[in-house]
Formats: sequence, C-alpha cells, structure tokens
Amino acid sequence: MKWTVLSLVRRASEILSERGIKTPRLDAEILMCHALGWDNRVKVYTNYDRPLTEEEVERYRRLISRRAKGEPVAYIVGYKDFYGLRFKVRKGVLIPRPETEILVEKTVDEIGRRYRESLTLVDVGTGSGCIVISICRNVDVKGARFIGTDISDVSLEVARENAEELGCRVDFIKSDLLEGVKGEMDVVVSNPPYIPLGDRKVEENVVKYEPHPALFGGRTGLELIERLSFQAYRKLRRGGFISLEFGIGQSGRVVEILKKAGFSGIKIFKDLSGIERVAMGFKES
Ligand code: GLN
Repeated sequence: MKWTVLSLVRRASEILSERGIKTPRLDAEILMCHALGWDNRVKVYTNYDRPLTEEEVERYRRLISRRAKGEPVAYIVGYKDFYGLRFKVRKGVLIPRPETEILVEKTVDEIGRRYRESLTLVDVGTGSGCIVISICRNVDVKGARFIGTDISDVSLEVARENAEELGCRVDFIKSDLLEGVKGEMDVVVSNPPYIPLGDRKVEENVVKYEPHPALFGGRTGLELIERLSFQAYRKLRRGGFISLEFGIGQSGRVVEILKKAGFSGIKIFKDLSGIERVAMGFKES
C-alpha cells in the first residue's frame, strides 16, 4: 500500500489513541512535520495527498512508536512552542507548559506599569529559559538586566542555547534558588517545583520522563515556594515584586507564605482553565 500524508497521519492517530495518548491527532501531525523536516503544521494540511517514500514511512513509524510508549512529543522533536517562541528542550529539562504563559503575561504587564528604565529581573529555576527569555523579548525597559538560575547543568546549557537562538542577553547562573545571585533585584519570577512528593494525580509519563527536581517541591509541595519567598524578600529592592506559579489548590497557603515573608498587595491570577495559578507580592517602597 502506498501511504500519503493524510492516510498515514490518520493511521498513526488511531494507534496513539488506542495507547491512551490524549492528543493523538495533534501529536501525529507534529511528528509528521518532524519526519519530513517541515517547520509548520500547516504544511500537513496543504500536502494531504503527498505520497511518502518507504524511507519516510519508516522514519515516521519510529517516531510514532516512541510516542506510543509515552515519550513526550517535545523530547522526540527537541522543541516546544511557548509564548509564540520556539524553545529547544531535551531530557533533563522541564518541558514548558501552557499555564506558565499566564505567569509571563502577568509579569510583563506589571513590569510595563512600573518600570521604564533600569530593572534587574531574576528567573529562578529557569529550566529551558522559557520564562526569562519570553519576558526579555516582551518588555521595553532601557538598561534591563536579565538573570536565570538553575541547579541543573543541562538546563543552564539549554537555556543558554535558547537565549542565543532567540537573541536575548541573559546571564545564566548555577545557583540554588537565589543563593548564588549577588546584589539586589527588582523582580523575582519563578515556576518552582510545587508538586507534593508522592502525589498520585501526576501523569505517569510526566514522572517517567521529566526531571524530578523540576517537579517536586518536597513533602507539602510548598517547600521551595517558602524558601524562595523569604530569600526573595530579603534580596528585592523596595517597590520590587515576586511573581510565582503554583499548583491546583495551593493558592491559600501561598498567600499565607508570601505574607509571612513580608510581602503585601498580594494578587492572584487564574489560568485559561479558570484555575488559580499565579501569585504576585510586593515589597513596599
Ligand atoms: N522555568 C521553567 C519552566 O517554567 C522550568 C521550571 C521548573 O523546572 N520547575 O518551564
């Protein structure tokens, strides 16, 4: 049988669906693009009837079989789109999540209201660098300095590659939270690990494939949020703020932690599914 783009995407999508993959058609299309070297999924729709060579079919089959076993699409293709930008990722680096776009958006808005010139921003636990790089590309502040920290060498390496590729000047520093960052700062932003250890609701393939230090925040899930909040309050300039992502149902406890650390004017924002996701706290001027 001679496969075309459409017939093979359909077949692959059935296979992925039978294996319990939640977005079978989307994944089948993204992997088709990867197999054929296409950079945009629109190409799938404009090439439905294109016949595939045996070699292409074989290449695609190998990609689909990895996905069918549960490996995340982003690790198979080596990138993930976030905030309109394309970020490289590889094993050992957390895959950027769409919820985190809210953290970026709200932080960019707040910076726009408060800063025109001179700003030091630190993204704590930068992973792929998606947060600090997206912010850097979307704020207009003269003399802004951007810093990203992580404890993982592979994350720092990937984040540096992404900053270079996307044309941003960011200093990436190996540091446990803010410990290794010298001097004062105006904004601390972070999507810290916040899943409680042993949480059974986490998807099996997330636990199987993604880096555990980037996921789990100790027994309660809030241990890093707590440590970071106290550190940040000490290091922030007056008038500065912290902006944090947190997990489902943690909002009340995060507000408590921020207040205890000294922050005021606390704001909470919901993600696109209506779930409270982001907290901001201010250090009074
Ligand atoms: N800052 C990165 C992200 O949001 C990594 C976060 C993490 O490792 N917990 O994708």
